[in-house]
Amino acid sequence: MAVNGAVERLVFLGPPGAGKGTQASRVAAHLGLVKLSTGDILREEVRQGTPLGQKVEGYMKAGDLVPDPVILEVMEAAMTRAGGKFLLDGFPRTLGQAESLDQLLAARNWSLDAVVLLEVPDEEIVERLTARRVCPRCQRVYHLIYDPPKNDEVCDECGTPLVQRPDDQEEVIRRRLDVYRAQTEPLVAFYERRGLLRRVNGQGEVEEITRRILHVLGEA
Ligand code: ADP
Ligand code: AMP
Repeated sequence: MAVNGAVERLVFLGPPGAGKGTQASRVAAHLGLVKLSTGDILREEVRQGTPLGQKVEGYMKAGDLVPDPVILEVMEAAMTRAGGKFLLDGFPRTLGQAESLDQLLAARNWSLDAVVLLEVPDEEIVERLTARRVCPRCQRVYHLIYDPPKNDEVCDECGTPLVQRPDDQEEVIRRRLDVYRAQTEPLVAFYERRGLLRRVNGQGEVEEITRRILHVLGEA
């Protein structure tokens, strides 16, 4: 944390569909942080067909995690570009990534201010993700029922036709949930032990959840 007590570095943790991306945009804007979403960064590489995109596409389509060294290289560069004030959405996702993040932060005399865990039950996750639509241009996220675009399936912000992510099919969603339980959930205890974990109920209105997050961060 900065001398004046401002929050500078956060991690958002939680199962796929918990609302990390939705809340990360709002909280980052509120706190003046750069939102760094590994999923968004990787999807952009896939869209552009770069060598990195070609390397990661198969893992993403299957709902599996991309290997740690690939992710670490991408995130180290992104965190440096962000000048040390960032909100990490979707990273770290394995204990190995969390340990590497620690080393990377320590080498720069940076530390994490908090890790926000968004909690949502599995049944609601499947319902959220099967009706998720995203803007491929500005990455804004919608839900066909809970947060629909004003005009039929085009982005409110930039007018681009919305798309469904290839990994938002029910079978792949279940796989991603299994991967979360096996590989990412151990991070809850890891950050709890360090006194950094802030649990937030992820069910309810989007605005209300933003208020809950700012409250546990001591910002509202
Ligand atoms: P994550 O980044 O954790 O995968 P998203 O932010 O993309 O999750 O949200 C997943 C889906 O759930 C999206 O369709 C989003 O519009 C919807 N959603 C997000 N927050 C809520 C909420 N509080 N209530 C209902 N639906 C939500
Ligand atoms: P997300 O947009 O966070 O749901 O991530 C989509 C997909 O990108 C995941 O299912 C993984 O294949 C990949 N991915 C995103 N972040 C990571 C990460 N930290 N480690 C490994 N794979 C990741």
